[in-house]
Formats: sequence, C-alpha cells, structure tokens
Amino acid sequence: MGLVDSIFSHEREGYYGEYGGAFIPEILRTTLDELIDVFDSARSDPAFWDEFLQVMRTYSCRPTPITHLENLSNEVGGAQIYLKREDLNHTGAHKANNVMGQGLLVRRMGKKRVIAETGAGQHGVATATMAARLGLQCTIYMGAVDVERQRPNVFWMEQLGAEVVSVTDGSATLKDAINESLRDWAHSMANTHYVLGTACGPHPFPQIVAYFQRVIGEESREQMLSAPGCLPDKVFACVGGGSNATGIFLGFLDDPQVELVGVEAGGLGLATGEHAARLAGKVGSPGVAQGYKTYFFQDSEGQMQHTHSVAAGLDYIGVSPILAHLSDIGRVRVESATDKEVIDVLKRMMRAEGIIGALESTHAVAAALREANSMSADETVLVNLSGRGDKDIFTIADALEDENWKRFLKDKVGKL
Ligand SMILES: *Cc1c(COP(=O)(O)O)cnc(C)c1O
Repeated sequence: MGLVDSIFSHEREGYYGEYGGAFIPEILRTTLDELIDVFDSARSDPAFWDEFLQVMRTYSCRPTPITHLENLSNEVGGAQIYLKREDLNHTGAHKANNVMGQGLLVRRMGKKRVIAETGAGQHGVATATMAARLGLQCTIYMGAVDVERQRPNVFWMEQLGAEVVSVTDGSATLKDAINESLRDWAHSMANTHYVLGTACGPHPFPQIVAYFQRVIGEESREQMLSAPGCLPDKVFACVGGGSNATGIFLGFLDDPQVELVGVEAGGLGLATGEHAARLAGKVGSPGVAQGYKTYFFQDSEGQMQHTHSVAAGLDYIGVSPILAHLSDIGRVRVESATDKEVIDVLKRMMRAEGIIGALESTHAVAAALREANSMSADETVLVNLSGRGDKDIFTIADALEDENWKRFLKDKVGKL
C-alpha cells in the first residue's frame, strides 16, 4: 500500500502510526459516527469529487496556477523557485477548499446549521461565506481578545450573515473558543455540523480535511509535470494545524525522490521558548488533548505552553496527527523560520515579484530561499503560498515601522 492509501485506509481507521484517534466525550460519539458514514459514502461516490471540483472551479478560482519566480530565483542564484498560488482562492487562502468541501458534506447530511471556532478570523470568514452560499445558519465562536484584535474579520463575518459569539472564559482566545464550540455542538448536533478548520481534532476530521486539501497536491503534481516538465526536488509548506501542508504533500507522498519540508513558526527563535514549533527540533512531545493524540508544545508535566508567532494562523499548540506520523517515519522534514526572517523575505518577494504573501505562507518561502541557494540551477523547488498578505497589513506595517502608516492609524483608527 502506498503512503497516500495508508492515510485514507479503513485499517486502524483514524490512526496515523501512533497518532490521531478520537478521545471524545461519549455524547459526541453518535454525531462523529454519522460524519464518518456520510464521509465514507461521499468519497466512494465519484460524482461527489466531481461536484467538489465544479464548485471550486466556479466559486474559488481552481485550479490555482503555479508561478515561476524568475526574478527571485536569479537573485538567490540556485534552484528554480515555483509557487502554488493558493492565495488566489476565494477569501484569500486554501481554507476555501476545506470549508466548501465540508459544506457539501453538510448538504448530504441534511443539516441546516454550521458552527466554527476561529482565532485570527480567517477560518470564520471562510465558513461564513460557505454558509451564505449554501443557505446555512452560521455561528462563529471567537475569544473576546481575538474579537478585539481582528475587528475587520468580525465585521465581515457579521455582514455575511453569521452570528459572532465573543467568548470571555479563560484566556478569551482560540482554545476557549474551541471549548465553547464543543459545548454548543453537544447540544445542537442533531441539526448542526462543526466545521473544523484544520487537519487536527478527533477522527474523522484530520482525514476529511486532508481529503479536500489534497486538491492542492494533485493539481500541483500535474502542473509541474506539464511545465517545467518535471517533479520538484523539494516541496515546502508552512505548518500551523497542518492542512495546507498535508494538502500539497499528498500530491507527492508516493514520489520518494521528492523531498517534503514543513515549516513551523520559529517566532523569536526556538531557543527563546517564544515560538509555535512542535515537530521542528522535536521541541514538542506526544500527548492527548482536544480530542486527539499528536505532538503538542507542552512542558514535561503536559501543561500546554504559550505559543508565539508573527503569523496568527501558525499560532497553535497541536499539529496534524498525519504530519506527526510522516515526520516520525522520516517522510516529511520539519524546519522553522523566525519572525524576522519572515518579514525580510516578505519584503524581498514583494519587491522582486509583486506578490504579497501571507505571513504564514512566507515561512515556507523563507525556508525555501535558505535551501535553494545551495542547490543547482537545474533543480526546482515548489512552495505552497497558502494565502495572501492583505489581511496582515496591521502587523506588517508595524514590523516595517512605516511612519505614514502610523500617522494614518493615529488619525483614523485612533479616533474610533
Ligand atoms: C490558517 C492559515 C494557515 C495555517 O493553517 P494550516 O492548517 O496549517 O494550513 C496557513 N496559511 C494561511 C494563509 C492561513 O490562513
């Protein structure tokens, strides 16, 4: 059995090596079983994948192109660098693949309402667009601290017709929003689906999210074979929860000559403890939390550590059990990039190529540039540009200490 088949296999379903599983309160068992059944019937129905592709073609710019970064490749002076342009999706990131796919499953189940949790707000906005499009009621849980930090996203979710619930429990951030969503779901599961945002959580979520995100890898493999006409020597992707990385890696998993590199948030540097790495340098350790087993960024007592990254989407304590397994068996190598490297590379790519990458995705670009330099000009690297950077304007302007921007903020936003 190939590696891709092993991930979607029914043997030891929901486990990837020793990771994954479903450690859930008994009350959620029935609804997760129902989800497993509907997912099984959907994926064994060839018309379902065609329907998904059709929706993504007409609503979200698929297939997204691959762009050869000729200027940056020349500047770096090594391997030829290519970008898979997930930033061109509807709502600006690969998240559209997952939410539209889960939306189609909701339709098959006949449920009328979706809930989701969101930290930075991107998954909330993507879920709200899907709910509007498919005529579903939508509630988004968000920590009160994040509601304040992400005003523009809260505004759009509400305009799209979603109800945004500000969670004030605990630290009033992502993990508290997850708890609140689970509480809602335990009461509402008969008519409500929980749209999980990444390839984490209890089975079958990692498998479902990987299934839809693999569209990135399948397209990429075909596109690379058609031009430049060869498989890439290396593929890079940033790793938050791990959905965009799993998605692109699935296209190349059974091509052993293609090296797969995940890139986590190095924050202020792994040695400072201020980062969101789990697999890189094995700074995390295996444990069970939030319904599944994986590497968590935790101390020796199993207490979750505080995470830090300039990129809100990479700021998470767990990681996909699929990537944890692929890292353990040596199929995926995991590196990290620091906040500072990322800001430098973002600036460089804007000037050289006219592309504004998301801070998350730029972690992958940074690691690729680091390695491309010592490769030869007839080698190729492919980087997944998971999203666009417009959303990061506040953070980027701040990091670049742009004086005109500071004046604008003081004049306009300061008065609100
Ligand atoms: C949410 C997000 C991520 C992190 O999620 P993964 O599940 O690790 O892919 C990465 N990039 C962008 C642009 C995002 O919005």
